[in-house]
Amino acid sequence: PKALCIRQLTKTYKNGLEALKGIDLDVEPGDFFALLGPNGAGKSTTISIIASLVNKSSGSVSIFGHDLDRELYAAKRCLGLVPQEFNFNTFEPVQEILVNQAGYYGIPRKAAWKRAEKYLVELGLWDKRKDMARTLSGGMKRRLMIARALVHEPRLLILDEPTAGVDIEIRRSMWQFLKDINQQGCTIILTTHYLEEAENLCRNIAIIDHGQIIENTSIKGLLTQL
Ligand code: ADP
Ligand code: ADP
Repeated sequence: PKALCIRQLTKTYKNGLEALKGIDLDVEPGDFFALLGPNGAGKSTTISIIASLVNKSSGSVSIFGHDLDRELYAAKRCLGLVPQEFNFNTFEPVQEILVNQAGYYGIPRKAAWKRAEKYLVELGLWDKRKDMARTLSGGMKRRLMIARALVHEPRLLILDEPTAGVDIEIRRSMWQFLKDINQQGCTIILTTHYLEEAENLCRNIAIIDHGQIIENTSIKGLLTQL
């Protein structure tokens, strides 16, 4: 099955705003895919629906063949989400956040700790493992969110504007990390309003504007058009 299959997806918010006007999207397993568009285009709405944080108005979404309406739990197990905004307002240390997150997916504590350890090292957070998440810098919080999204080893990782507001060195190391996990087989979709990010990382791209997909092509195809 496709990593992601979206058909005729619409979303009208309660205030009447039509954020999505019938979008279709296919992402193949192993792809590194960008959803590019200006602010307000509908990127966050799309991924919030995929992650079942927001209800769609109509249409269908399936993740690795699991339809969100019929097999929500199976679909969720396949998905890791890194939202754009996050608030760590608890007193949980970094390592506990990861181990507890794995616990939500039924992963035993010892195995969870092994995975947490791996991602803490790979994302440069090992020295911070005992710190309260609230006290981390913005770039570190974002890397913690990536680790948190990966502890249950999802087949599809979705990131909403992953490097917004992150300084250039951290951005480069995050890019490298994402390339590595994609090479290890994890399908990645990211939203960005920053073409350079899509160019650097992604193979395929969809451009969304005013709630509609206006282009869906390979990055190479897009660059030859410009
Ligand atoms: P749903 O249709 O998914 O239930 P709602 O229309 O109830 O969503 O809106 C969810 C929340 O988002 C509300 O608390 C609302 O105040 C807030 N909200 C309203 N307009 C905007 C906006 N333009 N951008 C972001 N959030 C908004
Ligand atoms: P993007 O992520 O591309 O910036 P969004 O999906 O956040 O776009 O927003 C798409 C449109 O929907 C915008 O016009 C935004 O103001 C509106 N919107 C987003 N969330 C809500 C909400 N909860 N209620 C009403 N309108 C919303």
